Amino acid sequence: MASTLTSSDNFKEALKQQADIVRIVGDYVKLKKAGAQNFSGLCPFRAEKTASFSVHATRQFFHCFGCGESGDVFTFVQKVENITFPEAVRLIAQKLGVALPKVSFSSPAEARDAQVRMALLDVHVRAVTFFQECLRRPEGASALEYLKGRGLDAETISRFRIGYAPDSGFLLRDALRREFDEELLRESGLFSWKEGDRSQVSGVGSQQQQVLRSAQDDNLVENSAAGLELRAKSLEPRAAAAIYSKFRNRVMFPICNEQGKAIAFTGRTLSTHEKAGPKYLNSPETPIYSKSRVLFNLDNAKEAIRKLEYSILVEGQMDCISVYAAGFHNVIASSGTAFTELQAKLLGRFSKNVVVNFDPDTAGARATERTLGLLVEEEFSIRVLTLETGFDPDLFIRRKGKDAYGASLKNSQKYFDYLIDRARAQFPVRNSESKVKAVNHLLPHIQRVPNRIVRDELALEISQKLGIDSAVLRQELKHAATTRSATAVKASAETQVTGAERVLIRALASATEMQAGGTGSSAREGTEKEFDPARQAQYALQSERLYEGLGSQSLMEALLGAGTETADVMALPKTEDDRRLLAAILMSEEEELTPETVEGAVRALRRIYYRRRLEEVQLGLQRAGLPLEERQALLQEKVRLKRALMDPGLAETGSKAS
Ligand SMILES: [Zn+2]
Repeated sequence: MASTLTSSDNFKEALKQQADIVRIVGDYVKLKKAGAQNFSGLCPFRAEKTASFSVHATRQFFHCFGCGESGDVFTFVQKVENITFPEAVRLIAQKLGVALPKVSFSSPAEARDAQVRMALLDVHVRAVTFFQECLRRPEGASALEYLKGRGLDAETISRFRIGYAPDSGFLLRDALRREFDEELLRESGLFSWKEGDRSQVSGVGSQQQQVLRSAQDDNLVENSAAGLELRAKSLEPRAAAAIYSKFRNRVMFPICNEQGKAIAFTGRTLSTHEKAGPKYLNSPETPIYSKSRVLFNLDNAKEAIRKLEYSILVEGQMDCISVYAAGFHNVIASSGTAFTELQAKLLGRFSKNVVVNFDPDTAGARATERTLGLLVEEEFSIRVLTLETGFDPDLFIRRKGKDAYGASLKNSQKYFDYLIDRARAQFPVRNSESKVKAVNHLLPHIQRVPNRIVRDELALEISQKLGIDSAVLRQELKHAATTRSATAVKASAETQVTGAERVLIRALASATEMQAGGTGSSAREGTEKEFDPARQAQYALQSERLYEGLGSQSLMEALLGAGTETADVMALPKTEDDRRLLAAILMSEEEELTPETVEGAVRALRRIYYRRRLEEVQLGLQRAGLPLEERQALLQEKVRLKRALMDPGLAETGSKAS
């Protein structure tokens, strides 16, 4: 096992070196060059206005000075995609077009979960094809008619892979059962069954899992083989009537993940019978589908959102498809329900500007309000597009055309203007009582704004527009502002660390840079081969313990204790503060390390050390009742320290590091 793990470690290391972290992160974050070898951008993990997210191009790691997240390219992809480590390896390999030999999982359970997810994606590929075929058959005629009636042409139908689920509940099951295990089909969210059958089945299921677990004890599973294995492990056939299709006589819209892989469906009924169930039916949550994490059409829209620097958010799939088909490619939908925080964060990765275009009916207005509140909290810049009563985006485009929709987009209103207008419409009387009511109506919305300066500006704007003495409103807002949890960033150790400490920390960190086979080890090119900044710094710091009492003591200790086999320098710091400090130092590496800069830094630390020791000695000498021997020892040390501090060898000249 050890040898196979090592070989896969080598693969990961090779992959990591090939995968330029700047390029991979650039798929998610708009990065700007910020220094000699670092880039910065807005944090993809939380809302922010100033770029505190940094990527180090030569050391190949990221660190966010806002939320403290840090790591390598794998950690980044894992976090941003919310996937396991092996899946991140796989995804990066795919992005680079590298063939993936084997994937190792940290536990058999994790291996099983990943296998199930892979197999479920395969089930969905097959299901999409099945529904598309059904749409082309005679029984799909009414579905096709419905889609044409909604103004969708063949190209749009095929782009969105829209299909038809036939009335029979058994066709899909029979088509898929040839390829997939029935237990897997039950997990796919595509089928229903009578509850009575369930207990018997789950017993079989866990037995099957046991078999799978023992087969994977070596933690190494080849993905494609795993999928096959899972399918081949079909146990004794169950009663034919056990499962049937959840979606019947419905137009089927695949819901895709960010990579464009179908992970769920929305089915729109074609039946007018009450028994036919809800008008729109969605897949339940499955191991591959979590509705709060998915934005409909993001896979198609993400490039346009990034390019146009805004997105259009609509409520349903049909609206989304119509707007897209009309040429507005930066449109996404929240799939019927109110927006979630995760969706807001997901969308924020592409642009923080959004035009919200929801149904203006009452239910829509409430959903709009909830969604907008969330977007405000995530610091989006929001505009609201309100179409004439009776029009949703789909109907509007069909009746009035895409140019009219484009014009409405341009005329969309800033969110707080929209709120003020609504408050004025709701409390139209121009007396102080109704003004207070309007303020109270607006306050909770303003409170959601994370940025205090923005809140102040809004207060001023609102007081002007409503004609209210701004002192009163400001008082209210001040209270609102204080009740918000303060996210003040505490003064970090960074500012207390001297230039000399920074040089030595860089020198210590260069040991791991060499170990990692450093892709960009420019610090060593052109300098003499014998110069090893890490060894030079290690020797000086350890023999004289010069780091004691410094702001960077714990970080230096962590780096000194690391040994040479550590490849990931960012994994060494023991505390969050130290990790931040190390990241800050490495991100701002500018000058090359030379024997002179390292020696200069050591001299600077010696000076600091001697001065501090001298102070201690002088304090000691002032102590009453000091035994003569101790007194003499201190006096001698005082002379030694004073002499050492006068030594020209310790002078600051020539040291760039003090
Ligand atoms: Zn962050």
